[in-house]
Amino acid sequence: MSAGVGTVTAIGAAGGAIGLSTDDLPMFFDERHHALAAHVRAVAPRIAACEDVAGDEAARDRAAVVALATSGLFAHIAPDGAHDVRGLCVIREALGWVSARADSIFAVQGLGAHPLLHGGETARALAARAGRGEVVLAFALTEPEAGSDVMAMSTRLTADGDGWILDGDKLFISNLGVATHAVVFATLTPGDKAGTRAVIVPLDARGATVVPLTATAPHPIGRLALRGCRVGREAIVESKSHGLGLALATLDTFRVTVGAAAVGMARRALAEAIAHVSTRVQFGAALAEQQLVQAHLADMIVDLDAARLLVLRAAYHKDHGQAARTEVSIAKLGATEAAQRVIDRAVQLLGGRGVMAGAVVEHLYRAIRPLRIYEGTSEIQRTLIGRAVARPA
Ligand SMILES: Cc1cc2nc3c(=O)[nH]c(=O)nc-3n(C[C@H](O)[C@H](O)[C@H](O)COP(=O)(O)OP(=O)(O)OC[C@H]3O[C@@H](n4cnc5c(N)ncnc54)[C@H](O)[C@@H]3O)c2cc1C
Repeated sequence: MSAGVGTVTAIGAAGGAIGLSTDDLPMFFDERHHALAAHVRAVAPRIAACEDVAGDEAARDRAAVVALATSGLFAHIAPDGAHDVRGLCVIREALGWVSARADSIFAVQGLGAHPLLHGGETARALAARAGRGEVVLAFALTEPEAGSDVMAMSTRLTADGDGWILDGDKLFISNLGVATHAVVFATLTPGDKAGTRAVIVPLDARGATVVPLTATAPHPIGRLALRGCRVGREAIVESKSHGLGLALATLDTFRVTVGAAAVGMARRALAEAIAHVSTRVQFGAALAEQQLVQAHLADMIVDLDAARLLVLRAAYHKDHGQAARTEVSIAKLGATEAAQRVIDRAVQLLGGRGVMAGAVVEHLYRAIRPLRIYEGTSEIQRTLIGRAVARPA
């Protein structure tokens, strides 16, 4: 990469001060969120450094896990009480800016831990270990034939003496590669919601095979093949809800935070674009002096502010005990789609430099894309929102 193109490097070099909503939208936050924001800013360079680790992507994934564990951020995914959704948003807004890889690993640790927090002693003990970074979790819901239609899941759970046997395939499972355990959603009776269960599977169990996959932007992900995989009786997450209920409650909490990660990525792209157009001279003046360039910046800021407000409204409601399901879907849909537009404009404003491999905005362009797909695609969010407001005669 030649000098002047810009690289995906440490936040301090390329990113400047991390923009966080705690600064300019303080009315949504409590004192603890400001303390958390200061902590996240302090540990951000350590987390960003995982992108500079020599070796392959797996080495950088492992470095991100270590940085998240030693920085104490994993502690926020396994709270004593309910999740602090605005706290998770603060962390993901910062991680989205710093490292999409670390953001994904952090979020999936949370997705794995959330169902365990509703379980018995074994499950809660594993969640506590995840909070200390002693184990890394995956959340295994999607299957080759059960994507948006999660009820089509066919991974079978069969009683076997004092334990259980699992058979099936889980696809596009993040954290596979660094995870030690997966929370696998399986069914005793296909097609029956009440027969679904969340099951803790140690990934070194006989009959569990991880097949790595490669996504647009680096983050650990793979397929999990379960073939006669035997787990103990205590592996079932015993809770008031069936497995699918646990999975959907988990997604409902973390969906808001996907929006926060999207905001972080978009803010970073906007900062990169402003820095570029302020110094790049064409036609005898900085690009920033061109009105069409200013119009791009204005549209980016409007998109970004709308996204932040949608995310914080949903997070605020959730932290104040309201279900806010429609607001959560609006936040996830609005913020991820807006972030994609903001990042696309940033690429445009950087011209050729914006599409060179290794440029920050080129990296963000690839990193943002899956956020419109995972944890409920944009179409599924539109379906949920439309269904909530439609009044068919
Ligand atoms: C990077 C990445 C990480 C992921 N991590 C995880 C993970 O950790 N754990 C996990 O369990 N899963 C994970 N997933 C899976 C993700 O949740 C699914 O990809 C997603 O739910 C969509 O399922 P699908 O890919 O099978 O697409 P499909 O469901 O086949 O959908 C394909 C297209 O059809 C549209 N569509 C589907 N149904 C409808 C409908 N009723 N109306 C209108 N449009 C519809 C979808 O919106 C989409 O555009 C991950 C995916 C990605 C890309």
